[in-house]
Amino acid sequence: MTAYNKTMGSYEENYLKMRPQSLCHMCGRCCRVVTTSKSYRELKLLQAEGDEGAVDFLKIFEPYPSVEAARAVDKEVVDNILARMKEGGQDTDNVTFYCCKYLLDNNMCSIYEERPLLCRHCPSTPWVIVPPGCGFEGWLYLMRERDKKKIRKSKEDLLELQLLKTKMKNPADLQKIEAVENKIYNNIEKFKKYGSELW
Ligand code: SF4
Ligand code: SF4
Repeated sequence: MTAYNKTMGSYEENYLKMRPQSLCHMCGRCCRVVTTSKSYRELKLLQAEGDEGAVDFLKIFEPYPSVEAARAVDKEVVDNILARMKEGGQDTDNVTFYCCKYLLDNNMCSIYEERPLLCRHCPSTPWVIVPPGCGFEGWLYLMRERDKKKIRKSKEDLLELQLLKTKMKNPADLQKIEAVENKIYNNIEKFKKYGSELW
C-alpha cells in the first residue's frame, strides 16, 4: 500500500538509507493500483487544509470510480490489500483505490526525475503492503524479522532489569536502571502500531 507520510522519523530515514533501490523491477503495480490508510474524504479535507502529504498524493493519483473498477485493472493487488487491511483490523468499507496519471502504458514513470517524495520513499517502511511479486517483498520480510528480533531482545532485557532491581538497594542505582527501562519501553512503543505487543 502506498501511504503518504507528512514527516519522516529517524526509523524511516534509516530504513530508506538501507533500501536497495535496484530490487525494484519496475512492474508499475504500485503506481497503477494503490490505496492509503486514510479515506478519500479524509484526504480531500487534508488537501484543503494544505497538508503536504495529501496535496502531493492527490496531485498525482486519481481515484478509481469503484473498488470493482480497480479490481478490473489488477484483481490480485486489490484483493491482497483488502485482505491485509482486514487482517490488521482496518475498516475496508470506505477504501478507495487510485491510479497515477503519470504512469505510462509501458510501466515507466513519465515524470521520473521530478516524481514526488512519496514515490521516492515507496515502500517507505518494511511494514507497507506491496503488490504480490514486488521486487522488495523478500527484503521487506527480512527487515520486518530484524525489527521483531530486536524487540524480542528488548523485552528480554526488560525482564533482566526487573530481576536486577529486586537485588538493588541504592536509590541512585535504581533510578539509573529505571531510566534504561524507560528508554527500552519507548522503543517498543514506537513499534506498537506494527504489532510489537505480540512479538
Ligand atoms: S511493485 Fe515493487 S517492483 Fe513493482 S514498481 Fe513497485 S516497488 Fe517496483
Ligand atoms: S509519479 Fe511516477 S513513480 Fe510516482 S506513482 Fe506516478 S508513475 Fe509511479
